Amino acid sequence: MSVAIRHRALLVGGRVMLIVASASLLAAVLIGARLFSASRAPPSTAAEQSTAENESSAGSSSLAPSDDVLADAPRVGIVAGHAGYDPGAMCSDGWSEAELNMTLAQEVERLLQRRGYQVDLLEEYDAQLSGYRADALVSVHADSCEVPGATGFKVARVTDSAIPQAEDRLVSCLYEEYEAMTRLPRHPSSITDNMTNYHAFREIDHYTPGAIIEVGFMLNDRDLLTKRPKLVARGIAAGVVCFVEGGP
Ligand SMILES: [Zn+2]
Repeated sequence: MSVAIRHRALLVGGRVMLIVASASLLAAVLIGARLFSASRAPPSTAAEQSTAENESSAGSSSLAPSDDVLADAPRVGIVAGHAGYDPGAMCSDGWSEAELNMTLAQEVERLLQRRGYQVDLLEEYDAQLSGYRADALVSVHADSCEVPGATGFKVARVTDSAIPQAEDRLVSCLYEEYEAMTRLPRHPSSITDNMTNYHAFREIDHYTPGAIIEVGFMLNDRDLLTKRPKLVARGIAAGVVCFVEGGP
């Protein structure tokens, strides 16, 4: 080969190598880019899917409790005093204790259900009271409309309790929470045999903690009882929650 030919050959060879080199560089870049996008896109979709599945399963379990959760939920009986039996105390304008008790008992039921409790709303002589088993039973009553000047509430449990510690705790929870919510004074001096020997205490299972509350006097405490029944019910529900979920 002449020098000129050799020179041209080298030049062509160099160009070819340059082209090959740039082509392989381009190929490397393209492959790399494809690998990069391949390694990103599908796993991220899969990750999103699995996150979504986790969220939806977590969401469904918290919104719709399984049977196990329901079986573990506290069970409470709320007696609407005098319901299905008689009107109880009466005011001259026709306002009855039974009517007030039912309003309060239904609101207590609603509040406790919202907290996940199983609530049995019971009548005064409800057939379910016989051997009734639950975490607690509270009977809701109100005091006479014929005692001028009397104001306040009180709570009692059965005298000869089979579970005095538990029932004392239920009574003290109701006293404290109801008092804090309504600001009504305590009126323990008017606790009668009708409360401590309340018929339902004899009917329910001896190991179901029971209490009866007289929420106030229908004459002097009328404003609170008629205008703020939701607050009154909150006091009772808070007493139940205090007892069931811990407390003094
Ligand atoms: Zn009553």
